[in-house]
Amino acid sequence: MRSTGPTIGVLSLQGCVHPHRPHIESLGILFKEVKTAEDMEQIDGLILPGGESTTMLKLIAIFNLSQGLEATFKRVPVWGICAGAILIAQEVHSPRQRSFGLMQIEIERNSYGRQLESFHTEVEKYPVSFIRAPKILSVGKGVTVLASREKSPIWVEQGRVMATTFHPELTSEYPSPMHRRFGEMVSAALSVS
Ligand code: GLN
Repeated sequence: MRSTGPTIGVLSLQGCVHPHRPHIESLGILFKEVKTAEDMEQIDGLILPGGESTTMLKLIAIFNLSQGLEATFKRVPVWGICAGAILIAQEVHSPRQRSFGLMQIEIERNSYGRQLESFHTEVEKYPVSFIRAPKILSVGKGVTVLASREKSPIWVEQGRVMATTFHPELTSEYPSPMHRRFGEMVSAALSVS
């Protein structure tokens, strides 16, 4: 059954899912784990979380979720985080891999090096984590850069699609500025639909 009130779903196949819950709920929005095409019909916004993009692609194929995801991408705002940003990019490097091409960005996987090179920093004075993060190499005309680090865009949006190359959800100060922004996108999309 459809829950009442705006709902943000987090694709829950693999990766960093539950830390999003308090951020979403602090915005007065419901949180939902998304595992099936049926779950996708019950959400007003979708987060593709951080994790391992190759594993996620495999699980999407195994559970036959491509079609449902594509329909959902057309219907609701989408936020790709780290591995999720890789999944929605137009072009993926190192190595090349399949992606949904929702956003005009070219992205390079594991661009800062191995796990040991993962780090914490602040974006808009909010602590975030870069975990085996990708780098956005180039953005298309329709893409707005909301934050950069050392000249690389790290927080971008294009229409109803947002991407961050870092994880804001691991910080327990709710909501993060990125969740707030995504919540606004979801509310705006609901008010026009
Ligand atoms: N290195 C991962 C990948 O290439 C992304 C890491 C993350 O999501 N934190 O998919």
